[in-house]
Amino acid sequence: MSESIRTFDAVVVGAGFAGMYMLYRLREHGYRAVVFERADGVGGTWYWNRYPGARCDVESLEYSYSFSDALQQEWEWSERYSGQPEILKYANHVADRFDLRRDIEFETSVISAHYQNDEANWRIATDRNETVIAKYLIMATGCLSSTNLPAIEGISDFQGETYHTGQWPHEPVDLHGKRVGIIGTGSSAIQAIPYLAREAGELVVFQRTPNFSIPARNREADPDEVERVKGDYQGFREFNRKAPAAIRGTMPGRNESALDVPEDERNEELHKRWEHGGFAFMGAFNDLGLNKEANDIAAAFVREQIREIVDDPDVADTLSPDNVIGCKRLCLDTEYYETYNLPHVKLVDINKDPIQRLTKVGVKTDSTEYEFDVVVFATGFDAMTGTLLRVDIRGKDGLTLQQKWEEGPKTYLGLTTANFPNMFMISGPGSPSVLTNMIVSIEQHVDWITACLEYMREHEHAAINAESTAEEEWVAYVNAIAGMTLYPTCNSWYLGANIPGKPRVFMPHVGFPNYVQRCEEVVNNNYQGFELT
Ligand code: NAP
Repeated sequence: MSESIRTFDAVVVGAGFAGMYMLYRLREHGYRAVVFERADGVGGTWYWNRYPGARCDVESLEYSYSFSDALQQEWEWSERYSGQPEILKYANHVADRFDLRRDIEFETSVISAHYQNDEANWRIATDRNETVIAKYLIMATGCLSSTNLPAIEGISDFQGETYHTGQWPHEPVDLHGKRVGIIGTGSSAIQAIPYLAREAGELVVFQRTPNFSIPARNREADPDEVERVKGDYQGFREFNRKAPAAIRGTMPGRNESALDVPEDERNEELHKRWEHGGFAFMGAFNDLGLNKEANDIAAAFVREQIREIVDDPDVADTLSPDNVIGCKRLCLDTEYYETYNLPHVKLVDINKDPIQRLTKVGVKTDSTEYEFDVVVFATGFDAMTGTLLRVDIRGKDGLTLQQKWEEGPKTYLGLTTANFPNMFMISGPGSPSVLTNMIVSIEQHVDWITACLEYMREHEHAAINAESTAEEEWVAYVNAIAGMTLYPTCNSWYLGANIPGKPRVFMPHVGFPNYVQRCEEVVNNNYQGFELT
């Protein structure tokens, strides 16, 4: 019996916010599309990251789709910052409202995608033993979807329960009275720790690098604000898209250098923003991300707050970062530092007392063997490239993406990579993605890809391929902009520095409006930098 191969105009990989909106647009324009999703539900990041305390750090009225006015008018967010369950509910609502599920195949992972030169299409294989053919391959696989489990010896020896924040179970995890250890102090841990401490009998936090965290000051949604925003939602969106990170928040940034403002006024401004909560803190002055001297002022202010909140001066000291604030992703919390005043919570600085291994009963450091019922890994992700590189993607002449990106990701506009024709990445490396409101960046990419497909259809093009020179210039440009900021000064996941052996390349593009302008210029110049055949 001959194998029957399904054919599509487009295969989309991933049914998170990017994949769902991509499917919506493809259908709207009459393309035959299928979405393959490894999970058994939609939501991507918000499907997987179910750890206690998981919450968005962009305000709800901004962190939502703008493509449907009916959707944005009818949906009611209950809090200033939405928690994971509510965002997942929203993702499910979108899937139902636009009848997306009938073209999403769940519990199906794409394992390989090979470009066929002669046919100008992709041959895509899934773990369900199926091969499909599609003209376009659209990777909507997310920036933070491959979890990083550190290579600590003895993980499999531990006889208690282990969890990773990025793969938290769907059923509630009972931690009541248990002895819990958590490794890592990034955004996920900073959100989870206060919640874990509420239930655990004993909580030990293993910290390698302290992070700066600002109170989120979450609260119930303000009906007046909701009414105001819904009164002109499109205007609100357009205004937000013009902000550097496409996030406006509820307190405008101040267009003045920290160095030009007298000390008492500076402190007052920082205090006001600390009380207001959220990323508005970094908008206190216009050079906190650019000038080390200005940044030092904000960093010192946060250290001062930590010292005020945390009772034990040694613990406060251990929790105080000495690097650039905002260099690693700034964390937002609810009572993170306060949690260290609880008698059953202990902080271990693993620089002073390194973890040797996990044992049958817990975690062994140089000085102590800590016994646990549960060990939580809050150790992050192989960000931006990890998930793309786990799929066996081969472009022209069998070139693998792994080979091509051996020295770091190379893309044109963060949307395409040369010699992988008809393949698009939504929020790929080299695009603003993680430095912005992700949903705004996703919508911009999906709209750009849709317009590109329409252009190709109209001009009867079989394939679009980025030119290598355009790509080289793009990579250099992305690095040059990053080099004008303080971002490259620390070991962040933006640089791949959290994964041993990963090439050190700054991956996201800094700035949203300047990026959109470049994308529009490319289109207006008949897809400049692309070869259309
Ligand atoms: P992360 O920021 O990469 O933090 C991982 C933590 O694990 C770091 O403290 C890291 O220490 C530690 N770690 C890694 N390997 C280790 C090892 N071998 N031994 C000891 N410690 C180790 O990961 P994340 O907290 O999951 O956050 C990732 C990103 O997801 C965030 O930056 C943010 O963009 C996003 N996120 C957003 C939200 C939100 O919207 N509110 C919430 C959670 C996450 P080092 O710093 O020393 O490497």
